[in-house]
Amino acid sequence: MSDEAISRRLKMLLQEDDLVEIYLANYGENINIAHIKELKENATTLIASFKAHKPIKRESPVESIGIGDDPIYEATLICPVCKERNVTSYNLRAKSQFITENHFLVPLYAGIGKYRKENFTKLATTVCQNCLFASPDPKDFSKFIEYTEKFQDSQLKIHPKLLFHLEDTTSERLGFLRAHDIFDPQFLRPRTTEVAILSIRLSIMRAELEQEHDLRNTKYKIGAYNLKIAQLQKESGIDNVETLKIAAELMESAVINSDCNSFDLEMQALYLTIALNIKLRNKDKISGYMKVMKDIEMEVAEELKQNQENIKYKQKFATMEQWEKRAKTALEYRDEEEYWANV
Ligand SMILES: [Zn+2]
Repeated sequence: MSDEAISRRLKMLLQEDDLVEIYLANYGENINIAHIKELKENATTLIASFKAHKPIKRESPVESIGIGDDPIYEATLICPVCKERNVTSYNLRAKSQFITENHFLVPLYAGIGKYRKENFTKLATTVCQNCLFASPDPKDFSKFIEYTEKFQDSQLKIHPKLLFHLEDTTSERLGFLRAHDIFDPQFLRPRTTEVAILSIRLSIMRAELEQEHDLRNTKYKIGAYNLKIAQLQKESGIDNVETLKIAAELMESAVINSDCNSFDLEMQALYLTIALNIKLRNKDKISGYMKVMKDIEMEVAEELKQNQENIKYKQKFATMEQWEKRAKTALEYRDEEEYWANV
């Protein structure tokens, strides 16, 4: 169907020009009756919000209701901060999704076999509904392992001052959520893009406190959270340049401050610094960090030369090669708009 035919058909189904625009901004050109129905049901609110130039991303629960088996299963975790015992976490069933990644290493999902597609980026963050402690890492929470009846404590337990600080800042998180007009602060499924982004922002608030308490790898973590937000914004047609800029600064700072806790992550941070600056068209930074990449290559090659038979240096060299190759590909395609269109 041509663009014009799609608009005509949407006009016929939705009756209102504003709704047609809202539809196209949210769902693109695939006509889906479930989305049409949802928009019509919420027409008054949506048009009012659209006219006031407010964000219109209140997409509905229908998004997760598709054809195929549910790839998600739930688990119950315990909050390490307020001890809430009924925190719901969502997990992907093994082999239920084919996972690729975008140029900024954010996973992209597609259903495998009988399973339907699930944009797991929206569900990956577990949020305590009581104190709003949030993390995509289940090990940050405590849990009961049923078959052994053993309690497994949060990995943050070794940082009691951080946990105390997290408890102490609960009102800040509650205030943050209150400032956003969210009807359902339970963070249960299905999550709209808006709620998913808030869950990630709560994770950022946690990681910023980790940074204050000198835990390592926080810059990369916060940068990667921002890249997930940027991807969700992109998918919803929201401008994501500011979010990408924040991520670029964090990745750069992770490289400069050697904040990463493994060589692999250090190389990822360097690759992301290069790729993000290509997207953001910061030419000076690109050549500077390609030079850093080259220096690391020489250093790692020299290390391997000195330790020919050592598997550790072989692996390190392979890791370096992998990320350097990706950086070179990104550089090669720097002027191809198509290549960067989906990030
Ligand atoms: Zn809690």
